[in-house]
Amino acid sequence: MIQPSPCVAVVGAGPAGLAAAEVLAAAGARVTLYDRMPSVARKFLMAGRGGLNLTHSEPLLRFRTRYGASAERLAPALDAFPPDALRQWAQDLGEETFVGSSGRVFPLSFKASPLLRAWLRRLAGQGVALYTRHAFRGFTPSGALAFDTPEGAAEVTADAVILALGGASWPRLGADGSWVEPLRAAGIAVHALAPANMGVTISWSEHFRTRFAGTPLKRIALSFGKTVVRGEAVVTAEGLEGGAVYALSRDLRRALGHKAVTLHLDLRPDVEEKTLAAKLAGVPAKASYSTVLAKGGGLLPVAANLVREVTGPARPEAAALAGLIKALPLTVTGHGGLERAISSAGGIAWKSIAPDYALLGMPADWPPVFAAGEMLDWEAPTGGYLLQACFATGRAAAEGALARLGLSR
Ligand SMILES: Cc1cc2nc3c(=O)[nH]c(=O)nc-3n(C[C@H](O)[C@H](O)[C@H](O)COP(=O)(O)OP(=O)(O)OC[C@H]3O[C@@H](n4cnc5c(N)ncnc54)[C@H](O)[C@@H]3O)c2cc1C
Repeated sequence: MIQPSPCVAVVGAGPAGLAAAEVLAAAGARVTLYDRMPSVARKFLMAGRGGLNLTHSEPLLRFRTRYGASAERLAPALDAFPPDALRQWAQDLGEETFVGSSGRVFPLSFKASPLLRAWLRRLAGQGVALYTRHAFRGFTPSGALAFDTPEGAAEVTADAVILALGGASWPRLGADGSWVEPLRAAGIAVHALAPANMGVTISWSEHFRTRFAGTPLKRIALSFGKTVVRGEAVVTAEGLEGGAVYALSRDLRRALGHKAVTLHLDLRPDVEEKTLAAKLAGVPAKASYSTVLAKGGGLLPVAANLVREVTGPARPEAAALAGLIKALPLTVTGHGGLERAISSAGGIAWKSIAPDYALLGMPADWPPVFAAGEMLDWEAPTGGYLLQACFATGRAAAEGALARLGLSR
């Protein structure tokens, strides 16, 4: 008698879950995907609004370092599915990629929707079944998956389970961290989810906020402690966000706790302080403060007004002003929170994850449960590192499940 192929339930249809489903189906497993939202991969689509930075082109050894303390644990998955493999995968789905000037990799279309459409078509062609509006609520005592559905509670059994439920940033896109308690209840170690790559709050004056919220600060450098980051930021009504701020987010989150911290902003990172002081001193003495900042400091209105946020109306003498333009102290009162963070830190502790991405410590008579993507406890800066690790761990968890089901390729 022919045995039916094993059935795998993948819960969470973001990049990590879809990547897992693809590998499982290609190896002959019967795959059923579940997601709580009415449509899938909403955060992936949102990433597409920023151009969809799929991965980064730097050498793999350097690439790996971006994951900090998790680099070693993630290395086998990244080696098995490195950035070039992700680019090839996108090309196979009809989306050519290119390397931008910063080394970041984007699809030529700068969009996620064509890639997602082609991907979903391929998955449907592989026989992957999709159930939306199925919210995972935890496990039954026998290890079945418990869902809330529009028709009421439902239980699903499978030969193996892959959880790819994301973190908790931008919760309205689907991933809201509601899996944390059910997994803790099943004995899994989960570190509290916290914002990563998030904005910071700064108490701007009403004038500055109204006039400049939404204005970019280009070619700046931000420093916090010993770390200096060159890049861009954007003034928001609440403070600052953008790449240079995100790059400091891990250190800022740890330092912030309950106290305010000081961030230093270099508004002219390409100019020496002495040169700047000489230029400022060269502006005629009767010139207004605004003229000194614009002509001597070479500052755009947003940058000039930032300086005045700190000094008030009284103009410091040239050397002191140059020092401020090179290291403007900004008091950060807090961080932007998970609502608007690009990603989450925290998640399932590595000690609860086996090398094949199976959850350790689950009851022995339950089907094996694997986890992948942002729900694991790693964090990385923006630059394509987030999506690359979600794809790579989704595929690694699928390989882990295939091996346990005797379907290894
Ligand atoms: C604005 C923005 C821009 C970004 N841009 C980039 C970028 O350019 N490059 C980059 O590398 N990264 C980017 N990211 C981050 C990247 O999108 C995420 O790291 C990635 O989507 C995480 O993938 P995931 O599959 O682990 O989780 P998710 O994409 O969050 O998917 C998880 C899925 O699980 C479902 N789910 C959650 N809980 C349940 C439940 N209880 N029951 C059933 N289903 C559930 C959700 O609905 C969701 O579909 C961006 C993020 C944001 C917010």
